[in-house]
Amino acid sequence: LAAGLDHLRDLPAETGDGYRIPLLVNTGLVSDVSASRQSGAEGIGLYRTEFPFMVRERFPGEEEQAEIYRAVLEAFNPRPVTLRTLDVGGDKALPYFPIEEDNPFLGWRGIRITLDHPEIFITQLRAMLRASEGMSNLQLLLPMVSGVAELDDALVLLRRAHREVVDEGLDVAMPKVGVMVEVPSAVYQARELAQRADFLSVGTNDLTQYLLAVDRNNARVADLYDSLHPSVLRAMVQIVEGARAYGRPVSVCGEMAGDPAAVILLVGMGMDSLSTSVSSLPRVKWVIRSITRERASALLAEVLNYEQPAAIRQRLNTEIESLG
Ligand code: PEP
Ligand code: MG
Repeated sequence: LAAGLDHLRDLPAETGDGYRIPLLVNTGLVSDVSASRQSGAEGIGLYRTEFPFMVRERFPGEEEQAEIYRAVLEAFNPRPVTLRTLDVGGDKALPYFPIEEDNPFLGWRGIRITLDHPEIFITQLRAMLRASEGMSNLQLLLPMVSGVAELDDALVLLRRAHREVVDEGLDVAMPKVGVMVEVPSAVYQARELAQRADFLSVGTNDLTQYLLAVDRNNARVADLYDSLHPSVLRAMVQIVEGARAYGRPVSVCGEMAGDPAAVILLVGMGMDSLSTSVSSLPRVKWVIRSITRERASALLAEVLNYEQPAAIRQRLNTEIESLG
């Protein structure tokens, strides 16, 4: 399947019945940017800003961060670049910011840390805004949001940072703001989050971990970790409904968006765009171009009646074989 897909590079990611589903890439390394550009990606759907933080010996300052973000924004301009605010904690530690906890995945992670440390958050937001001067392709993404209060608080800090840089004389637009839906409570408040945000992005890596209560990095329970679990699929359908209630676009940026079998279901759910690793992009495009949305929604409806992830995977694999 993966072989011989180079010819797809310049063709649109469009279903057989004419639905465009832009394909973007996940990254966090400036060195990946040219490979991402060459892959035919339509933008960056997830830039994990914690990566540049992890390889340093101290928190990078505003100017240092702005340079990193500017390089990425410029490389893709005018295509969208989605910078996710710092998502440390859980399994992602900063050597200079130790966190000791019994349950790190249920602890101080993502937006919880940056809201408790507004000075870290404001520095990062100012760096992102300054980096975007003269461009209009910056989008922000907030990780680990578990309720509307966190989004409201983050938006207050963003408005403050924006006012500051504008007062300093910079010509910087207010970026679009998206919320990662990756915690079960956010699934049930997808509507309320969509009302306040510009877009939603489903983080299936954490969403699967938290819905199934299966550590995403624990080999002992790896057999239980499956994004094709019917409960995960139903949650995702509900997220799309929440986004639709306010006409907001919704995308997927977890690993599930790089799994060809799963992509059929994401098309069927009506996801507006997908963000994958560069290496998965050709396969995902191939699936999108090989199927119609009508067929994909029929398959989604069918497998939502199945009770086991294995049965769902088997059904989808049969479909993939018939496409190829
Ligand atoms: C996710 O949780 O699906 C996601 C995209 O974020 P990360 O893998 O960085 O936690
Ligand atoms: Mg996550």
